[in-house]
Amino acid sequence: MDLGLLTVESTRTAIREKQFTAGRLVDEFYKKITEDDPEIQAYLALSRERALQQAARIDDLVGRGEALPPLAGVPVAIKDVMVTKGVRTTAGSRILENFVPPYDCTAVARLETAGAIVLGKTNCDEFAMGSSNENSAYGPVRNPRDRSRVPGGSSGGSAAAVAAGTAVAALGSDTGGSIRQPAAFCGVVGLMPTYGRVSRYGLIAFASSLDHIGPLTRTVKDAAIVLRYIAGRDPQDATSADVTVPDYEAEIGKPVKGLKLGVPKEYFGEGLDAEVRIAVEAAIQQLAADGCEIVPISLPHTSYAIPTYYVIATAEASANLARYDGVRYGYRSKQARTLAEMYRKSRDEAFGAEVKRRIMLGTYALSSGYYDAYYLKAQKVRTLLARDFEEAFKTVDAIVTPTTPTAAFKLGEKTDDPLAMYLADIYTVVGDLVGVPGISVPCGQTKSGLPIGFQILGKHFDEATVLRLAHAVEHGLAAN
Ligand code: GLN
Repeated sequence: MDLGLLTVESTRTAIREKQFTAGRLVDEFYKKITEDDPEIQAYLALSRERALQQAARIDDLVGRGEALPPLAGVPVAIKDVMVTKGVRTTAGSRILENFVPPYDCTAVARLETAGAIVLGKTNCDEFAMGSSNENSAYGPVRNPRDRSRVPGGSSGGSAAAVAAGTAVAALGSDTGGSIRQPAAFCGVVGLMPTYGRVSRYGLIAFASSLDHIGPLTRTVKDAAIVLRYIAGRDPQDATSADVTVPDYEAEIGKPVKGLKLGVPKEYFGEGLDAEVRIAVEAAIQQLAADGCEIVPISLPHTSYAIPTYYVIATAEASANLARYDGVRYGYRSKQARTLAEMYRKSRDEAFGAEVKRRIMLGTYALSSGYYDAYYLKAQKVRTLLARDFEEAFKTVDAIVTPTTPTAAFKLGEKTDDPLAMYLADIYTVVGDLVGVPGISVPCGQTKSGLPIGFQILGKHFDEATVLRLAHAVEHGLAAN
């Protein structure tokens, strides 16, 4: 059995047709993880007992000839920012080194209800802050396509597990690009749903108005399948939307002919690598050949997206991370003699450099006297960015761009230069700020064999069109 070739679709069929049992499949995956993961380091924790229990449940259903849930027996990996009952959850941080949550994240619980098997928790940048997975307190992840390179971040472990064949699918989180960017770097599909489409209950908060949970998969169809089962209103998350969840799998088969695609000139300017540009333009031509109408557009406020994101994301993070005070859970300093000292030392000893940098930036942006100049201003610019999209979506059905300006960079290449690192998300942050759905789908590779990602952004709650277009790109690539 070649685990690296299994998809959500083929796995559930194989289980249903008794080609192998869920129990055997789980064993095979753990064997592969034991062999391959020490170098790649995609996993931070394995949930073996839980996985075997779930596999036994599925095999029992198969054995009794009962109806199977839709994802029966599909082994998945979960980014370690989603809480899992009884399974250590660290958010890539020392401050949660020994944290074993008492409940499950809604998206994880929904996957298990649908029959999926959780293999373990994946490595990520600390509190999902980063673009290379090098900010994890537990060491970096290596890109399975080239082990001297980063897998992208912050969902680097999830992307690497899918690319390495140590999971069939994974969940990641995207606040500024953290599903799409690692998907592009590792050559897999990464989907950020519309803000509110998937419940954030049980997602360890980074920036609450920007955080999204979504799937990383080997095929577009798999992303469509997984999205269907994690999406939908959840009473535990007031921002989750009560919007009908379509059968995305059925939607992606529809032809793309006649769809209007906006190509924003601001996404093809300075800083875009030539090989990435060529591959993305070829994918656009392919869509044109499939009958899409290509429309040059402008999103005039694009150059403000990165600064706007880093004011809003850090402001929200500074508030969200105030809860790690050494009192109720998480790391507590042993050096402290007074209460104030305990707060200070616990946070000083257990947060990493990037997290501290963001708490300081965000606290500053929110402080009285600077609030209007930074946070309020950033919120106003966020509205202008949203209007750029509203205008564009009056004439186009979707917007197509590169996912990242370059392919995967070398480990260590940008670690000393936070600003250079922040620019890795230059094409992805806007989607989060505006709350629209976005996908990264592989569209080719560089001469040295590094994957290149094609980004499609859609209208609010129109994941169906985004997936449909991504499916066409995937098939165009396969045909060439
Ligand atoms: N790389 C971006 C950041 O560091 C995005 C992170 C994310 O989407 N979680 O904030």
